[in-house]
Amino acid sequence: MLVYIDGKFMAQAEAKISVFDHGLLYGDGVFEGIRSYRGRVFKLDEHLQRLYDSAKAIMLEIPLSIEEMQAAVLETLRRNNLYDAYIRLIVTRGVGDLGLDPDKCPVPTIIIITDKITLYPQHFYEEGLEIATVSTRRNYSEAISPRIKSLNYLNNILAKIEGKQAGVVEVLMLNAEGYVVECSGDNVFFIRNDVVVTPPTYVGILEGVTRNVVINLARELGLTVEERVFTRHDLYIADECFLTGTAAEVIPVVKIDRRVIGSGQPGTVTQKLIAEFRSATGVLGTPIYPDST
Ligand code: PMP
Repeated sequence: MLVYIDGKFMAQAEAKISVFDHGLLYGDGVFEGIRSYRGRVFKLDEHLQRLYDSAKAIMLEIPLSIEEMQAAVLETLRRNNLYDAYIRLIVTRGVGDLGLDPDKCPVPTIIIITDKITLYPQHFYEEGLEIATVSTRRNYSEAISPRIKSLNYLNNILAKIEGKQAGVVEVLMLNAEGYVVECSGDNVFFIRNDVVVTPPTYVGILEGVTRNVVINLARELGLTVEERVFTRHDLYIADECFLTGTAAEVIPVVKIDRRVIGSGQPGTVTQKLIAEFRSATGVLGTPIYPDST
C-alpha cells in the first residue's frame, strides 16, 4: 500500500516520520477513521468537517483546504486501487523540539493511510455483544473535550485494557458525574417503548458520524429519537441496546454488566437499523473513481 505523507506517496516500508514530530512526542494532533464501500467514501464531507473542527479546537491550522484534503484522500485510494477500504487521516502539529511549545512546530504533518477493511466477526451482529462498565471515566470535557478526535487516545486505551481484563470486546464509559457517555470507540443507544435514546454531545462524547446517520435513519423510520442524559440503570432496563461507529457500523448489545438486555437477542428495531444502515452505505458516498457508477 502507498501511504500519503505531506503530498508524497511512499511505499509502506518507507512511510516514516520524524521522532521530533509532536504527534509522537505529545499526541498533539487530530485524526479521522473513514470507510469506503464499493468505491464510494461514506460521509467524507462529515469526517473532513470533524477533522477541521478538531484541528480548530486545538489551534492547529491545516495547510490544505478541505477540497484539497478530499482530493488527497481520493487520490490515495486510487493509487492503491481500493474500493472497500478503511482510511486513516492524521494531521499532527509537526516537527518541533523536545519542549511542549506548539509554535516551535511550523509545518503540520499530514498522513493518509488506506488499507483493506477488517470487519468484525459476523456472529457479533447475529448474537449481539456483551459489554461492561469500566472504572476509567471519560475525559472531563473542561480538561480535554471528547468532541476533539485527538491523537491522544490514552483515555480510551485505558478503558479498553480494563475491558480486555474483564473479557469484553467493548466497554461502557461514564463521565465524571456518573452519566453514561459512550464506549471506547463507539457511541451508545438504547430503545425503550419504541423511543430511541442516545446521550447528547454536551455530556462529553465524540459526536460520531455513524451516530448522526443512525439518528436520521431512525427518524425517517418514524421513530422518536431523544438525545438526553441517562444512567446505567436506564440501560439495564432497556428493551434494546446497540452501538455505532465507523468500524462497527450498527452492532447490537445483549448484555451489560452481566444484565441481560431485553430478550437477550438483538432487538427488532436494532435489526431494522442495521439493515437500513447497510443499504445507506451502498448508495451514498463520494465516488473514488468518478467514471464508475
Ligand atoms: N466514540 C469514540 C470515542 C470514537 O473513537 C469513535 C470512532 N471510532 C466513535 C465514538 C464513533 O464515531 P464515528 O461513528 O464517527 O466513527
